[in-house]
Amino acid sequence: MSKRAFSDNAKAGSFHGHGLLPKDTVLVSLIQRGSVQDGPGLRTTIYLKGCPLRCPWCYNAESLHVRQELRFVPEFCLGIALCGRCLEACPSKALVVARERKTPLLQRGICDVCPSCSQVCPSQALTLVGKAMTAQEIVTEAERDKAFYASSGGGITLSGGEPLVRPALAASIVCLAKKRDLHTAIDTCGWFDMDDPDVRAALTSCDLLLFDLKHMDSLRHKACTHMDNARIVENLDRVAREFPHLPIWIRTPIVRGFNDNEQDVLAIARHVAQYPSVVRHELLPCLDIGEDKYAQLGMTRPQFASLGPSAKQLERLRTQVTLCRSEIRDSRLDQGGLQ
Ligand code: SF4
Ligand code: SF4
Repeated sequence: MSKRAFSDNAKAGSFHGHGLLPKDTVLVSLIQRGSVQDGPGLRTTIYLKGCPLRCPWCYNAESLHVRQELRFVPEFCLGIALCGRCLEACPSKALVVARERKTPLLQRGICDVCPSCSQVCPSQALTLVGKAMTAQEIVTEAERDKAFYASSGGGITLSGGEPLVRPALAASIVCLAKKRDLHTAIDTCGWFDMDDPDVRAALTSCDLLLFDLKHMDSLRHKACTHMDNARIVENLDRVAREFPHLPIWIRTPIVRGFNDNEQDVLAIARHVAQYPSVVRHELLPCLDIGEDKYAQLGMTRPQFASLGPSAKQLERLRTQVTLCRSEIRDSRLDQGGLQ
């Protein structure tokens, strides 16, 4: 998908299956409570649908597209002989009986992604992915865990997908959470419109930015994620300079054959160490999980060397990054440039 097409799609916002999304709502693919990976303390992570990148290692297949989708898990199906309710319910006749199959055959080409089959399915073999929620509903849901945030120093994290491709909703969620005294983090792939007033409002109000930086070589970046890194690198620079009080955690997924070597990792580490607001640089091993989710949504996961680095290699790279950051910090101290 082109940058333009994605951006228009996301701004129009507004696909809900093949219909329109109710005004002032965003599609949420998952609300995960008790997360310990997405910022400090115990967090509630809100996964919004839609991402401009197509990283082949992504294990959030349900967050890639900005529209609602039908998930079919045949293993959960009770079987046509015992149930078969979805065949009757489907107005498009997209679910049919097929020879030698005990479960319905889903013809995605004629499926309208309506609620009819999932509403009658007793076993959740058929479910709609993407719940339209307002900012108010999302924050109220997250607020139920407030006691855990207080005891652990946690809060809420907006993730995805890319939360800032729906900037107005992202800003509303972050501003509302701030009013309710909740710590908020935004987990971004870095591909957003830095001049959008709503993006700026979200960055003004949030407490922490988790910023993915995957590769400094733009061609390698594009070959793997379908987008070059120019906008991402520029956005990091602008956030660091225009929002100097916003702490940033850089996150680099370490992917075998893509960036699992000292040269590529240190190129990122040296680049981000120039920014005083980058307070942490995490290397995260790429996990070989989530392939089943692609099939359940009718997609094929792109082929790639899916494994992350060995534990030893990861440890080595982490040590290199720590050394690199402290060397650059020391040299800035020597020059009297560290605040
Ligand atoms: S979502 Fe289900 S009921 Fe609706 S058209 Fe698709 S298969 Fe049929
Ligand atoms: S309604 Fe659900 S459980 Fe029943 S046949 Fe359809 S998919 Fe299977």
